[in-house]
Amino acid sequence: MILIVDDTPENLYSLKKILELNNFSVDTALSGEEALKKILKNPYFLIILDVQMPGMDGFEVAETLSGYSKTKDIPIIFLSAVNTDKKFIAKGYASGGLDYVTKPFDPDILLLKVKTFYRLYEQNQELTKIQTALLTEIELRKAAENKKDEFISIASHELKTPLTSVIAYVQLLQRSVKKYEDKTVDNYLGRTNLQLGKLKNLIGDLLDISKIENGKIEFNKKDFDFHAMLQSAIDIVQQTQECSIIHKKSVEVQVYGDEMRIEQVIINYLTNAIKYSPDCSEVHIESSITGDEEIQLKVRDFGIGIPKEMQSQLFEKFYRVEGSASRFPGLGIGLYISSEIIKRHDGTFGVVSAPGKGSEFWFKIPLAKSSKQ
Ligand code: ADP
Repeated sequence: MILIVDDTPENLYSLKKILELNNFSVDTALSGEEALKKILKNPYFLIILDVQMPGMDGFEVAETLSGYSKTKDIPIIFLSAVNTDKKFIAKGYASGGLDYVTKPFDPDILLLKVKTFYRLYEQNQELTKIQTALLTEIELRKAAENKKDEFISIASHELKTPLTSVIAYVQLLQRSVKKYEDKTVDNYLGRTNLQLGKLKNLIGDLLDISKIENGKIEFNKKDFDFHAMLQSAIDIVQQTQECSIIHKKSVEVQVYGDEMRIEQVIINYLTNAIKYSPDCSEVHIESSITGDEEIQLKVRDFGIGIPKEMQSQLFEKFYRVEGSASRFPGLGIGLYISSEIIKRHDGTFGVVSAPGKGSEFWFKIPLAKSSKQ
């Protein structure tokens, strides 16, 4: 709806007729004060405002409107018979008007202007609609994301308890059947244990994800022997893998951090290196001291490699490289957890890789104070 404000009823009447003939709905006000009351109550897409009015003049009305968030964006066309001086026109624009028409005006020109404002108004409405839809979509997505995180947290907690008992019972069973020397049963129990171990790691990863999301992941930091921890990580992975882990180079230093969590990162790098190398015969691991009083660890494989454009996303939550995702099992959370652990040790991480040639995953973390030069 358009509001015409003019203190001369004849002016109002003629302009109203022209606009209504062109299918615009029109409201009128005979003074600035009446206009303000109407504008605060009704939605107008355009105000045609006479400048010269007794009481509140057009400029004052415009200035008042610009102070309210609800009305500050309504376009105004000023109509004036006398103030054709440039400085009055400038004042009109400064007080919030978008156009200035001097009387006597050409009705056709005014109509064209009104139509242009109407088009802008429609486009604006359309944009607002799209914006609202997008905001709603984001809120929905956020709610779904929260629900999913909550579900992961509850499910992994619930799964952990029975799994721990099953692992304990299988170990008891393994011990008690040992005396019968039944190789088949022993073999099956060994395999069961291996799968249970995988399940335990998976549930552990899911629990870690929820801890990270809730800011509840805790680190038990102290100085530890990096080399010994590295050797233990290699032994753990080697126990269940045929591919040889070759320890290329190692340094004997103390590092300040959470030993178990750093070991978790290395186990993740190693199991990925083997997993993403079909027919893997060897992966290499090495540690060295960098000039910046940091220890750097590198795990090198000769597997499928990763295209350049996907490398920056590898450490994001749930990210899996297209193509390899369908060939290898996984959830895409190991590297995300690793990156969070390294970040919480003031470290850095990354990958150098080429498709078909293999990958080298690395991280650097600061040395313990006692090991710094
Ligand atoms: P997952 O292996 O369970 O999918 P990760 O977070 O450990 O989860 O790894 C994320 C993705 O990064 C993997 O899905 C895989 O596409 C890619 N990736 C990780 N390590 C390697 C590697 N050594 N070689 C090739 N691709 C890798």
